[in-house]
Amino acid sequence: MDSDPVAVHGITERPRLACYLLIGHGDVITRNGMNQSSNYLRSLDSIETVEMARLVDLIISDAIEAGASDIHAEPWEDSLLVRIRLNGVLQELLRLPADLMEKVSGRLKVMANLVSYEMDRPQEGHAQTGSEMGGVELRMSFFPVIRGNHQGGVLRGEKIVIRIFDPKRRSFNLDHLGFESSTLVTMKHLLSKPSGMILLTGPTGSGKTTAIYAALTHLVEKHGSAISLSTVEDPVEYNLPMISQAQIHHAKDFTYPVALRSLMRQDPQVIMVGEIRDAETANIAVQAGLTGHLVISTIHSGSTAGVFARMINMKIEPFLLASSIIGVLGLRLIRTTCPYCAQPYQPEASYMKLISEGLLEEASLRHGGGCEHCVMTGFSGRVSVTEMLEVDEAVREAIMEKLPTRKLQEVAIGRGMKTLWQAGMERVIQGETPLEEIIRSIPSDR
Ligand SMILES: [Zn+2]
Repeated sequence: MDSDPVAVHGITERPRLACYLLIGHGDVITRNGMNQSSNYLRSLDSIETVEMARLVDLIISDAIEAGASDIHAEPWEDSLLVRIRLNGVLQELLRLPADLMEKVSGRLKVMANLVSYEMDRPQEGHAQTGSEMGGVELRMSFFPVIRGNHQGGVLRGEKIVIRIFDPKRRSFNLDHLGFESSTLVTMKHLLSKPSGMILLTGPTGSGKTTAIYAALTHLVEKHGSAISLSTVEDPVEYNLPMISQAQIHHAKDFTYPVALRSLMRQDPQVIMVGEIRDAETANIAVQAGLTGHLVISTIHSGSTAGVFARMINMKIEPFLLASSIIGVLGLRLIRTTCPYCAQPYQPEASYMKLISEGLLEEASLRHGGGCEHCVMTGFSGRVSVTEMLEVDEAVREAIMEKLPTRKLQEVAIGRGMKTLWQAGMERVIQGETPLEEIIRSIPSDR
């Protein structure tokens, strides 16, 4: 982004307000031009006359229009920094005077029916925007923090994060996630099996939930009312048609194991478990996969092949794993280059070394220069890069022998698995995304 805030907005030509200085230099330009929230602040004669409900609405509206997934508001020294997450990366939207901290927080808490004067304990709530803002769901989280000011004092503040769930922006179609075609074919093949376990793995924000909902939607489209699908989730992020979704409730002891055990008596064919994070859940899920159910779940693991070691650490016998798990899908989300401003470019030499010579010959390296279509980011949207580990006879043997993760990965590669890094590099060679994006988001194979 431009380093000179004044030049960006031409503010010097008509200085009216002290609050101009607080408008961030990283302003995101929305598709209709400037931020509505900073325009509003500029229109004021004094910061004292700000209508808090209006300002908060405009910040939310700016974020929704830019296509952001989250809003972050946190005190930084003498200002309240408001950022939005666009295509996975935080960008500055506004800087407000720190004095507005409590008012912004109070307004949001009123929207979410929370105790508005309490700032010294974490609070969570949700609110829905009006239809003029698309009826979008906002999940708010307030977390008490300490902040210092320029005078060396220490004040109380809050970090506020709002997740934006826009039902219209979500597509749960396996064909539209950007999966490599070989992954798509294998995934559909695995989903056609009557039993076994499919696990998805990747860090938070790698597209696991979207992929798992797309897999369930695929099954509903294929089988209609002839199939019984149930989920146990924490939280249920979207309501899917024709699927029974259950929400975990820890305070009422409705935990994953309790829910799953009960669900087994509900004659399900397909069971989706939001996340396997303890031995008990892992055990029931593995048993379900062995007894005629198709189980789909996610698990945290450093790598796709590492899922087996993680499950063995949860005291699952390797022979049970080998017969239950039919495939593991590793996922990452990468930003794709904006088609309107894509142009050839030369990454820096140290990065270029990461591309093998053979590939370099056919490479058409491109990145986005930034234009109005991509709100000057050079990127438009995100797609999944995948690593599909299908469990065949050779992999099954490797699991039963408890081979270390690295060795197990080698066996899978020998059976045709393309690693995340290889898949990412192919996107670079095809000019779909710049090299830097893959380096940023995918661990190297070396
Ligand atoms: Zn562009």
